[in-house]
Amino acid sequence: MKDHLLISTAYNNEIRIYVSYTKDLVEEARNIHKTWPTATAAFGRLLTGAAMMGFFNKDESELTLRIDGDGPIGWLVAESNIQGEVRGNIDKGEVYLKYHDTNKLAVGQAIGNGHLTVIRNPKLKSAYSSTIELVNGEIAEDLTYFFSYSEQVPSSVGLGVLVDTNSSVVQAGGFIIQVLPYASEETITKLEDTLKNFTSVTDYFSEGNTTEDLLSFLANNTENILESHDLKYHCGCNKEYFRKTLAKLDDATLNVLIDEDNGAEIVCEYCNKTYYFTKEELIEIIDNKKLQV
Ligand code: ZN
Repeated sequence: MKDHLLISTAYNNEIRIYVSYTKDLVEEARNIHKTWPTATAAFGRLLTGAAMMGFFNKDESELTLRIDGDGPIGWLVAESNIQGEVRGNIDKGEVYLKYHDTNKLAVGQAIGNGHLTVIRNPKLKSAYSSTIELVNGEIAEDLTYFFSYSEQVPSSVGLGVLVDTNSSVVQAGGFIIQVLPYASEETITKLEDTLKNFTSVTDYFSEGNTTEDLLSFLANNTENILESHDLKYHCGCNKEYFRKTLAKLDDATLNVLIDEDNGAEIVCEYCNKTYYFTKEELIEIIDNKKLQV
């Protein structure tokens, strides 16, 4: 199954459901950031949540989810857009913690106490951000809380990443269910009963089910699929972006790069791509700054 997202209405259009499969993009994130299993699970859940939330409002081009915790992972960031492109970065990826009682990856412990920040349209004037305190650092519950209390949309979120013994990603995906304002009590009860019978996203996919199956299950066969989109790990960085970043440095710093390092090498922190700037290119950056003054 390729990474993708299904957007559907259900229960007489009283509920909206997003269902996603994100194994490849989470595996790519793991390869780029060299994360250990618990960090992979945390990072993968955040990337999966961001991938779905990137499609919430058509007029919003980009979304950033950021978690700052006091656990061993530190901070982590996921960015997404309406093209289904997701990228992210993690402070400390070498974290492998398990809960002793369940033997499950201890994501909440690895993140600790802290905050979740949602930023819409980070690069535009209409940028808006909202921060909540983490509920338990397991990410799905934190997002559920965010939707219900910060955005007043009662929601249910499920996110899962299954990591193999060799540390690779076996399954990843999730769902976001939104209860629309005019939903009836009867529909809400039906939905709650359905969710009671659901164990985990990764178990469900591991049993050979597809995203369509998951959607049908959550919707009690009332789904009406509106859209389907491919999802992928993609970083939109380019040399121009880093040229502008270098131009923000003061001349003294740039001169050190020119005289002592004979150029600059910059590695993108989202995708590991390396960009080289020759001595001549750096001199040009200084000259252009002078022209602009
Ligand atoms: Zn990049």
